[in-house]
Amino acid sequence: MPVPAAQWCSGIIKNDQIEKYLINGKDFIDEEIINKALSSNHTNDKSRVRDILQKSLEIKILTPEETAVLLNITDNDLWEEMYAAGLEVKRKVYDNRIVFFAPLYCSNVCVNGCRYCGFRSDNSSEIRKTLTMEEIREETVSLLAEGHKRMIIVFGEHPRSDIDYMCDAMNAVYSVKGVSPRNTETSIRRINVNAAPMSTEKLRKLKDVGIGTYQVFQETYHKPTYSEMHPSGPKQDYRWRLYAMHRAMDAGIDDMGIGALFGLYDWKFEVMGLLYHALDLERQFSIGPHTVSFPRLTPASGSTIPEKSGYLVTDEHFKKLVTVLRLAIPYTGLIITARERPEIRMDVMKVGCTQTDASSKIEIGGYSNSADQELKKQQFLLGDTRSLDEVTKELAQMGMITSFCTAGYRCGRTGSKIMGLLHNGIEGKFCKLNAVLTYREYLDDYASEETRALGEQVIARELSMIDEMDFYKKGNLLNNFHEYYEEIKKGKRDLFI
Ligand code: SAM
Ligand code: SF4
Repeated sequence: MPVPAAQWCSGIIKNDQIEKYLINGKDFIDEEIINKALSSNHTNDKSRVRDILQKSLEIKILTPEETAVLLNITDNDLWEEMYAAGLEVKRKVYDNRIVFFAPLYCSNVCVNGCRYCGFRSDNSSEIRKTLTMEEIREETVSLLAEGHKRMIIVFGEHPRSDIDYMCDAMNAVYSVKGVSPRNTETSIRRINVNAAPMSTEKLRKLKDVGIGTYQVFQETYHKPTYSEMHPSGPKQDYRWRLYAMHRAMDAGIDDMGIGALFGLYDWKFEVMGLLYHALDLERQFSIGPHTVSFPRLTPASGSTIPEKSGYLVTDEHFKKLVTVLRLAIPYTGLIITARERPEIRMDVMKVGCTQTDASSKIEIGGYSNSADQELKKQQFLLGDTRSLDEVTKELAQMGMITSFCTAGYRCGRTGSKIMGLLHNGIEGKFCKLNAVLTYREYLDDYASEETRALGEQVIARELSMIDEMDFYKKGNLLNNFHEYYEEIKKGKRDLFI
């Protein structure tokens, strides 16, 4: 017998799993302190700003005051310097690669009433669906046919998509062994999860089935706006959400993705909220977020919030906020999604984004049904519906590598290990090798002729750079890499360093 939704909801929040992280009964978001930092740190003094940029370039997290200075810059020349510094920081930590993933929406049943989301419980125009395990396998087959290796799996919060369903869904995805158009074996090698905040007990189960990153977006760090936007369901509890990542750490998931939904409240405040979140994770666990996401509000069925909010973020401010995030939390991965239009995505990749999606379908069952974008069947509309091949081609034209690397997580380079490596720029060097290996696989197995021709030029440049770099000359790294590269060319798959 399924548990009634109201009864299920009453068991979600465990106050002791919030209170243990509070400091003197307080959480880490203090509106007054954030507003004071924002109002008292105004300067266009070039040397002060350059000192701050230097700190970012040394891959050190900025203080709230330094971050506020950057957010408040009004001098256009200084912004240009900041865009350039953002790209330099990205290159230092993540090189010239963009990691690709695909979202899989498993269910749109939800007990919450988020006023901006098409999945909210009182939206009667939404067609509800929870994929069966067979359907999840079919979706996976379609994604593998495109060339994807990394997935983010997304769930509404509901007893029908509770922890056991999530674990079954992940096992179903991992179980699919696909064949590429050129007859090589393929599978999803890493699943990240975007789901409601959970107890440590449930999070341990996600850890056991092989979760990559656990993602929860705070939506807004501004408490009054949070209450206004979340009138019903367990999501009403701001602090349960605020400490989702702290519980993940306690459950052994040390790969955390934080985020804010931009457009609900002032963008500068949200950037400060994300920074305080990273600082508190560092303070309590010595590990910051592996990724930061910054979706902007997009139209959702039955909601007027995405059109009427007084805080919608312009393209210009969007680029600025991504730049400041890049500089303020320099070691973190930054995710830009297909919610954004192609030109904006490419623009922010130039100021420091490191991960994105392509060929995405966010309708439940959308990959195997190949339906058109229809708002009543999906959470919101996508701004970029291009295929993975088209996006890969554009990146190749920009000299960037499309990476499907999943090695870090499978080699145990997560949590404190990856943080140290990111700070020192070493993780980027391993990733460069694995990016090239997975790019080789993609070009051989999936790329169109045009994409492949452009990709060959990128890969040739990368190979000669790798051969020149002292770092790779230590030990057997370079030999192993070349050996793997040659084996991949002959048809062997899933070799990583
Ligand atoms: N139900 C889970 C939760 O809320 O955490 C996970 C799934 S929810 C669909 C994933 C994210 O979608 C939310 O955290 C929110 O930031 C984003 N989202 C919801 N409505 C949106 C909209 N109209 N535009 C852009 N993003 C939206
Ligand atoms: Fe449900 Fe998440 Fe949408 Fe809120 S954002 S209605 S919790 S799916």
